[in-house]
Amino acid sequence: MTQTKNINRIVILGGGSAGWLTAGVIAAEHCTGGDSAGLADTTITLVESSTISTIGVGEGTWPSMRSTLQKIGISETDLITKCDASFKQGTLFHGWKTGEGDSYTHPFTVPYGYKDTNLADQWRRFRHQIPFAEAVSSQNSLMFSDLAPKQITTPEYAFNTNYGYHLDAAKFAELLKMHCVENLNVNHIVADVVGVNSNSTGDISSLLIDAEEDVEGDLFVDCSGSRALLLGEFYGVPFVSKKKFLFNDSALASQVPYSSSEDPIASSTISSAQTEGWVWDIGLPTRRGIGHVFSSAHSDEDQVGESLLKYIEKTVSPEAASKTSIRKISFSPGHRAKFAIGMSAGFIEPLEASALVLVELSASMIAEELPANREVMDIVAKRFNDKFLYRWDRIIDFLKMHYVLSERKDSDYWRDSVSSESIPDSLAEKMELWRWQSPWHRDTMHVDEMFPSASFQYILYGMDFKTRARTANRRSDFDAQNSAERLFQENAQRTKKLVAAMPTNRELINKIQTYGLQKI
Ligand SMILES: Cc1cc2nc3c(=O)[nH]c(=O)nc-3n(C[C@H](O)[C@H](O)[C@H](O)COP(=O)(O)OP(=O)(O)OC[C@H]3O[C@@H](n4cnc5c(N)ncnc54)[C@H](O)[C@@H]3O)c2cc1C
Repeated sequence: MTQTKNINRIVILGGGSAGWLTAGVIAAEHCTGGDSAGLADTTITLVESSTISTIGVGEGTWPSMRSTLQKIGISETDLITKCDASFKQGTLFHGWKTGEGDSYTHPFTVPYGYKDTNLADQWRRFRHQIPFAEAVSSQNSLMFSDLAPKQITTPEYAFNTNYGYHLDAAKFAELLKMHCVENLNVNHIVADVVGVNSNSTGDISSLLIDAEEDVEGDLFVDCSGSRALLLGEFYGVPFVSKKKFLFNDSALASQVPYSSSEDPIASSTISSAQTEGWVWDIGLPTRRGIGHVFSSAHSDEDQVGESLLKYIEKTVSPEAASKTSIRKISFSPGHRAKFAIGMSAGFIEPLEASALVLVELSASMIAEELPANREVMDIVAKRFNDKFLYRWDRIIDFLKMHYVLSERKDSDYWRDSVSSESIPDSLAEKMELWRWQSPWHRDTMHVDEMFPSASFQYILYGMDFKTRARTANRRSDFDAQNSAERLFQENAQRTKKLVAAMPTNRELINKIQTYGLQKI
């Protein structure tokens, strides 16, 4: 007979971005109603070690972070001022196609008129005159000019163009912690977990902490980082490597000061392809986070270090460059066969910054589908695992496409990246189809798909992929052509207005630090 024990005590293991975001999202949904709303039963306890450090990277978010923070109840002004945060409007890619001066953007805003009209089909006629992202989105120009996605008069979390953040990961975890403990009634225990106790059914019943105490609970969420203490070490859920598709397993990370406090703050993550991988460049108000991602099977760490330093020296003064210290981070690209939250579930690589958004999606699924009792827990767990397996596979397809589209041949790294055995069948199939028709709504099977067809369009056409014209004289093409001309013009007018009206990212952040944003 199965138990009908209610799920009231939630224990989260780990106090990195994953642990605190999970605590905040679940607590905001379950712990703030008070007795009068009849919701007071749920307790959340977060256990974190003071000796095992957090990974300390993870500085680029998706726009989803705005609604997550709003739901948790954190003010945007606090986020900007306390986490050294700036606005991110997408990714600006350099050198991914040939390495010879090519650039394109993947903006967060979908193409103009995207709901009804597929502008990718119509843009084909203009491809030699205007880049795809510029033709269909105002954000492209804002990104190339380091402009902000909103003005000081735009209320918190509202926008002119869609945006996420660049932030200091350690300060972010600190802000989340303070808010969760002070405002959302999350219990905080600082201790090392040294053992796991389970009951006769195999469920975890408590965590043994170094003070020789037990932390009991009904549901345990593993946010313990890449060691995956509960999912991997205790339950033995196997790790599924994805290295055959995406080779990167190492990064050299640095923090670089600006040459002057007036230097522009980029409003995109800058991703520059290199011979041995790629460099991320994330602009915060007081410093930049710059790192080189590479594959240890293809490249020598010293050689990558030199290329990172060369990148840094090209972009800041020699004095600022000389203050750089570099840290190596190793990771295994892949995920567990079943899912926890954060690095304990897995990690592929930082391209397109898909890790924190997975944390947000996982935490909100747990918050929304929190099993009422032990009887339904396995059903909810299966739904959770199915959903996230699908999501990880789609992330792999999307990230891999960036490499498959490259024409670079300057190292084994790039040559191996296009070998057919390194391309997932699911991606190869889609790319074959897209030679004949551009990505569109029906390419995404789920309403809550992470990458809409718009994202595939931005990467494909930014990298100059050719989709041939479909058979001539289709009625729908003729109709779309008429509305497309109007949409292209409207987008161009809107772009002009926005470029004239938007402050620079730095100007807006300076103003927020002085005046704050309007509360909604
Ligand atoms: C090079 C690189 C770049 C990245 N860039 C991005 C990016 O731009 N955007 C993005 O979204 N993501 C990025 N990520 C991923 C992102 O950093 C992580 O997803 C995020 O920081 C969440 O980490 P975490 O909380 O799961 O793990 P961690 O930060 O490792 O936290 C683990 C926690 O578990 C605790 N813990 C572990 N063992 C015990 C124990 N025995 N007892 C008690 N506590 C314990 C630790 O003390 C710590 O608090 C990047 C990752 C890498 C490697």
